[in-house]
Parts: sequence; structure tokens; C-alpha cells
Amino acid sequence: MKGKTHSSFILLGILGLLLSGCGSEQASKEKVTETKPKEEATFIKKSPDFNADSAYYFVEKQVGFGPRVTNSEAHRKCGDWMVKVLKQYCDQVIEQRTMITHFDGKKLNVRNIIASFQPKLKERILLCAHWDSRPFADMDTKDQDKPILGANDGASGVGVLLEIARVLNQKNPMVGVDLVLFDAEDLGKSEHENSFCLGSQYWSKNPHIPGYSASFGILLDMVGATDAKFAWEQVSIDAAQPVLQNTWQLAHQLGYGNYFMYYQKGGIIDDHYYVNKIAKIPTIDIIHYDAVSSSGFPMHWHTHKDDMKVIDKNTLKAVGQTLLEVVFSTPIQ
Ligand SMILES: [Zn+2]
Repeated sequence: MKGKTHSSFILLGILGLLLSGCGSEQASKEKVTETKPKEEATFIKKSPDFNADSAYYFVEKQVGFGPRVTNSEAHRKCGDWMVKVLKQYCDQVIEQRTMITHFDGKKLNVRNIIASFQPKLKERILLCAHWDSRPFADMDTKDQDKPILGANDGASGVGVLLEIARVLNQKNPMVGVDLVLFDAEDLGKSEHENSFCLGSQYWSKNPHIPGYSASFGILLDMVGATDAKFAWEQVSIDAAQPVLQNTWQLAHQLGYGNYFMYYQKGGIIDDHYYVNKIAKIPTIDIIHYDAVSSSGFPMHWHTHKDDMKVIDKNTLKAVGQTLLEVVFSTPIQ
């Protein structure tokens, strides 16, 4: 996605830019925060094991359908497969379908998929990711008009959530969990306001269950690349700092401190932006941050290099195990 500054925040004396979608053409500013992980003498892992081989398979399977561009045949087939997998593991699966007219006049058949564990429990956690992939490769030097495979940008987050579904099917946590796969996140152009994140905008205005809420949410976006770094992103800080604090602390206690960095970066308009703003569920974004690239995102972002070669099981494990630990530590005992 191309970046557009929508508004700005003062961020520890630095101007933090609010960037469109999962990206920007402008470098994000970053700074080590004052926040340090709490040292604890003993840490006992509460969560069952997250299987990275299984998560990798779920990523590979999605990519095997080809680019999952909204309205395409590959998109439909991948959606059908995900619903089948989720029905096998979850207590309830709801498909939310709607027609949205995009900025270019195109009618989009948008399909959000919501899979729930213990739907009657009042205390709930929302875990989400986008499942569509981008219809063009605007950051590439060639074939810019062709769709990308989106192994990292799309499939990685969903792969982690499908593996979490498999694990929660074997061991129920004390809270309800909703996995929401948002459609049509990556069709936007930065010059058109609100043209990204169409599925999450729709869901935030029209939740799958009227009056739905959750205690907090975690969005995954680009969580599968080798040596990924995740930073504290400004929209997440403003809306859900305790969730960031808890998630990063558990990641460090599990030994994944080399992925979960105490850096701070400018705000991003990703699905969590609308979940926070419209649905009012405090939600953080775990998203790959690259301090070296000019976009602030990994070099393969929105290029044809975003294929299975960038996916690393160690990163999937770090993110997936951390999320499971968050789920099994809630409510915090
Ligand atoms: Zn993207």
C-alpha cells in the first residue's frame, strides 16, 4: 500500500505519522520506549504447544490457491477451504457476506469469516487477520499490475490463527475466543481515504452478532518472515497499551524477546484502526517493522517476492505461542 498521512501524533517528541493500510512510502520514526519488561523470578507457561509445522502448512495451503484477490476464483476456493477447516475445530462459524462498491466503482463480494470458541461466555478475546491478498505489486519494479501471492501479507496471520483453532479445539481456555478473518483489507490506494480494510470497516459497523464485544483484540499482519521484528505501533498504544504491555511481556517470558521489540513506531491504518475506532474494542496490531527499509515494512512487502520463501517457522512459532499464552493467561490469575 502506498502511504498517506492522515493525521499526526506527537510521539515522544517525534512526529509519528499515521500511515495508510499496512504501509507507507515514508519512513516511520522509531525510538526505544521507556517501557521495560517486568522481571519475574519464575514463569510457568500456561498454554498448550503451538505447532509451527502445522501453521506453516496452513500458510502454504492458502498460497497454493494463488493470489486470493477479492472476487477471484482462488479467493472463493480458499474461503471455502478455511470455512471447512474452522468448522472442524470451532464451536461456531459465521460467514458474513456483503457487497461493497469500491472507490473505482467495482462491486466487491466481501466475505468475513468469524469462528468462535465457547460463544456463550461473556469474557471474550478477539484474534484477527486479513485473508485477502493484494491485486497488484505496486512496490515491485516489475509486473506491478499483477496480483501478489501474499504469503506473509495475508496468509501468515491466517495460518497462525488456523493453528490456534486446532489447538483450542483440543484444550479450551477459560475465556471465549473469536477468530475473525477479514476480507478486502489490501485493495486500497492511499490517495483514496478508507479504501483499505473494507472487511473490517464493515464488520466494525455490523458485527456478526449484534452488540458483540470483546475484552480486547489482537490483529496479526505480516507475522511469518525470517527474523521479523514487531514494534509498538501508535494506534495500538493509544487504544490498548495494557494489551501491548501484557503481550510483549509474555513474549519475552517465553523467550521471544528477539522478535517483540520495545521500539515505538508511527500509527498505521490497518484493520485494528477501525476495530478500535468503530467497534470500540481495544485492539493492537502485531505487524512486521523493518527499521532499514524506507517504507518501515519488509523488503518483500507488496512485491512478488512475498512468497513461501520468506516464511519462517520460527517466526510463526514465536507469534502463535505468544498468542496462546495471552489467551491462557486471561483472566490474569
Ligand atoms: Zn498489504
